[in-house]
Amino acid sequence: MMNKYTGRFAPSPSGPLHAGSLVAAMASYLDAKAHQGQWLVRIEDIDEMRTVAGASDAIMQALTIFGMRHDGEVVVQSQRKPLYQAAFKRLAGHTYACGCTRKEITDSRLGIAADGAAIYPGTCRDGISAGKVARTLRLRVPDIGQENETVTFNDRWLGQLTQHLATEVGDFVLKRADGYWAYQLAVVVDDADQGITHVVRGTDLLESTGRQIYLQRLLDLPTPSYMHVPVVLNEVGEKLSKQTGAAPLDLNNPLTELLRAARFMQLQIDHADSIAEFWQKAVADWTRRFGN
Ligand code: GLU
Repeated sequence: MMNKYTGRFAPSPSGPLHAGSLVAAMASYLDAKAHQGQWLVRIEDIDEMRTVAGASDAIMQALTIFGMRHDGEVVVQSQRKPLYQAAFKRLAGHTYACGCTRKEITDSRLGIAADGAAIYPGTCRDGISAGKVARTLRLRVPDIGQENETVTFNDRWLGQLTQHLATEVGDFVLKRADGYWAYQLAVVVDDADQGITHVVRGTDLLESTGRQIYLQRLLDLPTPSYMHVPVVLNEVGEKLSKQTGAAPLDLNNPLTELLRAARFMQLQIDHADSIAEFWQKAVADWTRRFGN
């Protein structure tokens, strides 16, 4: 039997909820409701350098104002490091310590990965060269020509997608030079630990999905179903974020913000007089488009 639908919204507390993260929250929430599923919230503060004090409380408060009630307890990544450490240990044989600096990798000009970073040339695969110290821990991806060199998955919004790990991603970091576990490892551990069956998030994370599925396979964890929804961009085509100057949401007019986010995803809601009516109509429309 299929596990009961369990979805999640996994914001990074690097600032308050903005128009872009509201769309991701709404899409995951609607999909859970359309499948009579659970909707969990996980605070992704694993990158403590980007965590802003008070942001996670502000996000939780905004979700309440928008009428989005989560199920279960809110999980916080910074409190779960032993789980990431244990998963890393289970990857033994596929990981190695790397002593290269970012500049050395960029200078190697092997290519640019889909997420814009330079592809790691594999310099430390067989050991750190003399005179260097370990900086990061990396996962070895299959070589070109190996039978598992690509990851293919069916995205519920975008259709079938394939990523070639060696040429589009390269050996990627699991533990960063600053000592923090990488998002890719934490998210895979947490999605499995929380029994997530459906991931609904923005296309800004699409390039990460191949890495996450590859990690799930190595760790013998189930692969959830994925849906990547369009992301809101600013006038110059950048993803909205605190860094790109996203305007804060107007929490005094939550209905206006909800309708705007719904319009962005082309939900058909002519009007709503209350937040409850908004959700009723939004769930009905999402169910028509994406429900069973
Ligand atoms: N924490 C990530 C973000 O806020 C989302 C991760 C995910 O949904 O997998 O961009």
